[in-house]
Amino acid sequence: MRAIDDDRADCLIENGQITDEDGRLSPAWIRIRRGIIDEIAKAPLASIADEQVIDARGHVICPGMVNAHAHSPLSATKGTTDQMDHPTFMWTNQKDTVGWIADEARAVTTLAAADMLRHGITAIIDHVPEQNAALETVAPIVETWRGSGMRAAIALRIFDGRYDDIGDGGYATDQNPLRALPTDDLLDICQEAIKRWHQPNEGLQIFIGPSNSERCSDRLLAEGHQLAADQSTGFHAHLLETKVQRERCQSLHGMTPVGRLERLGALSARCSFAHCVWTDAADLELFAARQAVIVHNPHSNAKLGVGLMPLAAMLNAGCEVALGTDGASTNDGLNLHEAMALSLLLQRSDGTLPRHHWPTADDALRMATKGGAAAMLLRDRIGVIAKGAFADLVFYDLKALDLCPLNDLAQQLTFAERGRSICRVMVGGVTLFDNGRFRTLDIEGALDTVTALRHRKAKTP
Ligand SMILES: [Zn+2]
Repeated sequence: MRAIDDDRADCLIENGQITDEDGRLSPAWIRIRRGIIDEIAKAPLASIADEQVIDARGHVICPGMVNAHAHSPLSATKGTTDQMDHPTFMWTNQKDTVGWIADEARAVTTLAAADMLRHGITAIIDHVPEQNAALETVAPIVETWRGSGMRAAIALRIFDGRYDDIGDGGYATDQNPLRALPTDDLLDICQEAIKRWHQPNEGLQIFIGPSNSERCSDRLLAEGHQLAADQSTGFHAHLLETKVQRERCQSLHGMTPVGRLERLGALSARCSFAHCVWTDAADLELFAARQAVIVHNPHSNAKLGVGLMPLAAMLNAGCEVALGTDGASTNDGLNLHEAMALSLLLQRSDGTLPRHHWPTADDALRMATKGGAAAMLLRDRIGVIAKGAFADLVFYDLKALDLCPLNDLAQQLTFAERGRSICRVMVGGVTLFDNGRFRTLDIEGALDTVTALRHRKAKTP
C-alpha cells in the first residue's frame, strides 16, 4: 500500500463546471484548504504559492457518492450466488469467508475499495465481518480503509441470538460459524473498537452494527444504541430484508421489528437500516418521525428475490433514503450508478405505479449523495459541493460517450453513466483515482492474494 504523498492537499481546481440548485451547469473554481472546500467562484480565482492547481476544463465535478451499505469481505465472492435464495446465499458466504488470515482480509478490502473508487464512491458504511465481530478480525479491515484514503464507517457486525431466519445451514451447534457471543462481551468489543479507531475527523468511524434486529436481544439493541448515542456515533443494521424476519418478530414480540426498535428506544437519526423491504405504512411513519435512514439495496434484493422495497411510498412518507450496493456476491460489482438506475426501474417495471408517483433521477442522485451523508452522520459535510464541506469530489469527462451530448446531467448520471466517464476521484482534496490509476491501493498484490485465497478455499471441503 502506497502512502498518500500529498496529505490534506491544498489545491485550486480551475475551469471546472458544477451544477446549481436547479441542476444547471455553471463554471467553477474551487479552492480546497486542508481537505475542506474553502471557496467556490464562477470566475477565475488566482492561485496562491505552493497551491497545487488542477485543470478541470471539459469536466463536470460532482459530490462523491456514498455507498451506505456494503460488506467488503464479499468482494472475494463475485459470481457465486446465481439462483440462490437468501438462506442459501448466507450459508455460502459463511463457507467462503471463515478462517481468513489478516493479509487475505486486507487484500479483499483493497479490491472493494478499488471497485468503489473507480465508480465514483468516496465514502462507505462497511458492515463487517461476516461472522461475529472480533477486534483481531476487524483490525486489518480498518487498517485497509485508513490506508485507502477513503471515508469509511465500519459497522461492527454483532449478534447475541441465533440466525433463526436462515436456519442452521446444516451445521452442528458447536461447528456453526455464526456463533452468538454474550451481550456484555459484544458491548465491550464495540467500546474498545471505538476507543482504538473512531476518528471522524480522520475519515474513519466505528458504528455499532447489529447483524439484524431479529438476531439480537432487546438488551443488545437498546444498549448498543445507547452506546452509539453516548459515543456520538452511528447504529447500522440489516432490517426486514425477508418476509420471514417480519413474521418471526410478529410472533415473538407481537409487533414489527420497526415497532420493536421504537419500543427499545433504538430508533433515531443516528440509525441506518439496510433493505427494509417488508415495511408497512406505520413503519414508514416511524422512520420519518425519528429521521432514521433507510438504505436501499436494489440489486441485492432483486438478485436474491427477497421482494420489492416500496421506494416511492417511502419518499412520499418523507423518509430519508440512501443507496447501497450490499456485498459483491449479490451484486456483483460495487457500482452506485447502476444502483441509481435500478432503484428507479424496479418501481416502474410491473406497471402498477402511476407515472406521477415514479421516483426520478433527481431522487436517485439525492439518495446516492445526501441520503448517504445522513446515514454516515455527515449531513452537509459530504454529498454536497459547498463551502465548509469535505472536498470529496468526482470529475466526469463531458466528452465521454455516456455524457455526450449532454441533455440532462441528472438523467444521464442515473440512466446512462456506469462510471466510464470518471477521470479523477478525490477524498479530502487528495486524488485517489486518476485516469484509471489508483494512487493508494496495490491492486496487483491484492489480486494475487485473493486469487490464492480462492484456490485455497476451493480445496477446503
Ligand atoms: Zn447486507
